[in-house]
Amino acid sequence: MTVEDRVLRIEKRQTGKELAEALNARDPSQALALCVNGIVKDLDTMLEVGDEVTLLDFHMPEGKEVFWHSSAHILAQAILRLYPEAKPTIGPPIESGFYYDFANLHISEDDFPAIEKEIKNIIKENFKPERRVFTSVEEAKEAFKDNPYKLELIDSFDGGEITGYQQGEFFDLCRGPHLPALGKVKAMKLLKTSGAYWRGDSDREMLTRIYGISFPDKAELKNHLTMLEEAKKRDHRVLGQKLDLFSFKEEAPGMPFIHPKGMHIWNALIKYWREIHTQRNYVEILTPQLMSQKLWETSGHWEHYHENMFLSEIEERKFAIKPMNCPGCMLFYNSKKHSYRELPLRVAELGHVHRYEPSGAINGLFRVRSFHQDDAHIFLGLDHIKEEIVGVLELVDELYRTFSLEYHLELSTRPEKSIGSDEQWDAATSGLKDALDAWGHPYTINEGDGAFYGPKIDLHIRDAIGRSWQCGTIQLDFSLPEKFQLEYTDSSGEAKQPVIIHRAIFGSLERFFGILIEHYAGKFPLWLSPRQVRLLTVADRHADFAHSVAKKYAAHGIHVEVDDSQESVGKKVRSAQLDQVNYMLTVGDQELESNSVSVRTRDNVVHGATDPDTLLEKLLEEIRNR
Ligand SMILES: [Zn+2]
Ligand SMILES: [Zn+2]
Repeated sequence: MTVEDRVLRIEKRQTGKELAEALNARDPSQALALCVNGIVKDLDTMLEVGDEVTLLDFHMPEGKEVFWHSSAHILAQAILRLYPEAKPTIGPPIESGFYYDFANLHISEDDFPAIEKEIKNIIKENFKPERRVFTSVEEAKEAFKDNPYKLELIDSFDGGEITGYQQGEFFDLCRGPHLPALGKVKAMKLLKTSGAYWRGDSDREMLTRIYGISFPDKAELKNHLTMLEEAKKRDHRVLGQKLDLFSFKEEAPGMPFIHPKGMHIWNALIKYWREIHTQRNYVEILTPQLMSQKLWETSGHWEHYHENMFLSEIEERKFAIKPMNCPGCMLFYNSKKHSYRELPLRVAELGHVHRYEPSGAINGLFRVRSFHQDDAHIFLGLDHIKEEIVGVLELVDELYRTFSLEYHLELSTRPEKSIGSDEQWDAATSGLKDALDAWGHPYTINEGDGAFYGPKIDLHIRDAIGRSWQCGTIQLDFSLPEKFQLEYTDSSGEAKQPVIIHRAIFGSLERFFGILIEHYAGKFPLWLSPRQVRLLTVADRHADFAHSVAKKYAAHGIHVEVDDSQESVGKKVRSAQLDQVNYMLTVGDQELESNSVSVRTRDNVVHGATDPDTLLEKLLEEIRNR
């Protein structure tokens, strides 16, 4: 047996379970399932000589999926024990936990304790899910004759094996794989219930969805629930209102109104973005929001995406509001001839795009219909891919680190259906891979997950409470240069077609804004803060001095306010703290006399009296250093 990374090559016929035990390299009971030649399977699958096998545990994404999928089955079994009339439909794992949808079930969260009790019983019974392969569609239909939803699923299968899993008295139509024993689930919690349409179709019946989460040990569940509590406290929709950053109006569903304090943050982000792009020789453009339908037909958006586009008709000509910035940038490129000397040509655009999202999908700043993308399109020759990607990765690293965001990278390669030649794909994929290797930051590979027009790198960030978000992406594209007949002249005077890199790092600026609000829990670092300084007067006679300091600070671009209300200083401090003001400067008789301010920071540390000019220098320095 050879071990390279975590993949084993099998040299004798045995089951995955035997392999895990024989290896004993780590606690064999941790192995939950197998990945055999790229396909996730049950742990007791018989392995053949030459198979490539990875043992999956809970801390690997595929292992988690199996764990949560089995947990969904446990939930369904518990529901059927308590509500025999319920009809289970589907129950997949999701990014964080699982759900199961039931027809003919009417419950509320008050019923969760009883269901969780039954779940505990089932876990204690420690069933070993058994796979059963049906020999025919008819046999499968016979097994599920009492459940019209399962019958519909069976009818929609397009060939291949139909399988089911038995655990105790519960039998479910399922591809699997499942845990070797359900006792591996040590802690499970039901989180919420909601309605969901059968097959996501609003013309069909409403089902009852139950969400849950589970872990192989109790401490992990506890940590997760603490994280959820913390996430609730940081909810950007709540903080956004409290801190007066943005709002939504019924008149424009899914399209945020950014308020003045929100604009301080917004503008600081853009200022920074512009600065680091200028340093790296990007140029910036701005293209129209409304462009003719013909353009979207050329780009392919009309064919693939028109259901998500907002349309308009002007002087009997059809137009669409842009859902993406790419076609506008292609028109820009074609507005003149290009030589190889100009490449790589890096063209950035903070484009305002609109995409139709169903009302039910809209979620704060995270999922909106109107947003700005920090897009850039880089035009280059095939031979420059590696160094250009390294350049983009350096930019990514600098940008995310500024916000203390950890990140990881995922490379997605050629899918089955794709356009472009083998030569293009090889050059592009190895370009990305070489760049990632040279860059040295660990990355994972998703084989076959690339776009049909080229391979890509997805950027996932991790926020302060450990949640992961996909933000940016770096994509190679052979298709648009073809569609828009882009050209440049190479060194021998011949016309060549450039390749394009599409890349965004914030992704959606609105969404990134929302993530930052939650990441910082509203406590923005000084350079981003919309309330950098507030002067607090002790009595009316201190107001003139406070305003004169504020005026000077404002002239240097500091976001400064004066609280000269009739409240006590104690109250003013508390309200400044609730507003997450970074620096509170108190002005009383002593300060007035010595031309100073008393400094208190947001963490409630009192720093004493300082000369306002010295403090100003310090603040400007802190802002410059981000
Ligand atoms: Zn299943
Ligand atoms: Zn693009």
